[in-house]
Amino acid sequence: MNRYSVIEKKIPREIVLLKGRPCAWGKCSFCDYIDDNSTNEELNHNTNIEVLKNITGKYGVIEVINSGNIFELPKDTLVLIKDIIIKKNIHTLFFEAHWIYRKRVQSMRDYFGINCIVKTGLESFNKKFREQILVKGFSYKNIEEIKMYFDSVCLMPGIKGQTQKMIKQDIKLAMSNFKHFTVNVFIKNTTNIEPDPVLIKWFQDNYKWLDDEKKCDVLWINTDFGVGN
Ligand code: SF4
Repeated sequence: MNRYSVIEKKIPREIVLLKGRPCAWGKCSFCDYIDDNSTNEELNHNTNIEVLKNITGKYGVIEVINSGNIFELPKDTLVLIKDIIIKKNIHTLFFEAHWIYRKRVQSMRDYFGINCIVKTGLESFNKKFREQILVKGFSYKNIEEIKMYFDSVCLMPGIKGQTQKMIKQDIKLAMSNFKHFTVNVFIKNTTNIEPDPVLIKWFQDNYKWLDDEKKCDVLWINTDFGVGN
């Protein structure tokens, strides 16, 4: 498992894949990331110490991910990240949290005390698809409410049951409402959720321009950030 990488494009940054407790939401139908979680805080932290040693601060920007939410990292790991931020002159931190943690996001921003770009795995703005098929657990009233807590949404095109219309709308809304967003094309995994190869081909043909869109990170395959396996 590769846990450290450097993203050179768009917003250059170092990225680390850390280990934490199981995701508190844990219900998304397409999710099989949980294999990397552990309830052993010591094991998690010891792994994280080794991974975080790689950070050089070369771009002043880091992204911290785990197979869940930043709130599930050991406290000692959060202390270590803050220490690295100070020692390596990090000015911007990307991290991720699910909607259930929205009211705690500000406390995490305050804790780190630097510019934070907080991502959330919305996957789609289409409520029916998102909640009935993907079981994401987002209950926002309007997009302004998401923006109250989060800076960036992650979208997931290419799933059976999605349509071109939904994806067009997702990209349009992300482009017009957020200063940053991520597109993670769905890849077959161990769950029952199936990719739609025709839809994926259509997306690749029509949205190649996202490669040049500065505020969008596109993962055409889910290891494009260089971490994971
Ligand atoms: S919020 Fe993320 S980690 Fe948690 S179940 Fe959903 S996709 Fe998996």
